[in-house]
Amino acid sequence: MYSEKSLLSETATLKNAIDQADAIIIGAGSGLSAAAGLSYDNPTIFKIWFPGYHEHYGIRTINEAELYQFPTLEEHHAYWTRHIASIRYNRAIGKLYLDLYRIIKNKPYFILTTNTDGQFQKAGFDLKKICTPQGDLAFFQCSKPCNDELYPNNQMIQKLLASLGPHDFSVKPEHIPRCPNCGNPLIPNIRRDNAFVEKPWMAKYQNLIDLINAHQGKNILLLELGVGINTPGIIRYPFEHLTLQRNNTYLIRINLKTDNLSLLANSNKAAIIQADIGPLLEELAKEY
Ligand SMILES: [Zn+2]
Repeated sequence: MYSEKSLLSETATLKNAIDQADAIIIGAGSGLSAAAGLSYDNPTIFKIWFPGYHEHYGIRTINEAELYQFPTLEEHHAYWTRHIASIRYNRAIGKLYLDLYRIIKNKPYFILTTNTDGQFQKAGFDLKKICTPQGDLAFFQCSKPCNDELYPNNQMIQKLLASLGPHDFSVKPEHIPRCPNCGNPLIPNIRRDNAFVEKPWMAKYQNLIDLINAHQGKNILLLELGVGINTPGIIRYPFEHLTLQRNNTYLIRINLKTDNLSLLANSNKAAIIQADIGPLLEELAKEY
């Protein structure tokens, strides 16, 4: 059973919950990306990382770019090539992910994240234990889609990037990657509309269920990191329901912004830590 530790400091609260846990399920949202230095809402970051796109298209942030309907397929691929190269492949590992790995690695764990940037994998977390139901920038899928395949895109992206001049807003038509099965263009495996291929990600939920089943009667810590309210059905609500329904389950919600525990307001099974995640994990990692 989890004991109540209401008067300890934030780091001690977190350490206590982690040390008592037999397994840890991490839920991570865009707030964790922002804490690691990549804010999808920040116009300055967008201008630095994607020069010319604001002037050319009026796009202000990465969030806007992800939803932007480029006028042609060639322009779509030029932007997404740069997006995937910058965010998925060329970006260094955020220190907080390394700290988190150091803290968690010796416990059974599972990671559920809406982030598509692959930082957990880069930090050393096992890909089999990472589920990204909103997609992963490391993969293309058929645009139709004619199948549920995910195509690793690292080599294709490097080739496309090499073909782009610094002022090109379009790739050449012959460079657009094509589905090996039906010949339609390949597109990033990112949830934007009904064409999203989600089956491989849904299959990974079984690993999460297996982890929970393997720890019957034991302590499970749900660690929610920077999860906002845009898509609460993916992490926020399932975590709250699991906490309510399962014994020996404790939820810690860490967020920079003021937050609430709607379902768990009067429960002793959950705590909110309002803090900057990076410094908090850095402090905690010193103890592991
Ligand atoms: Zn196809």
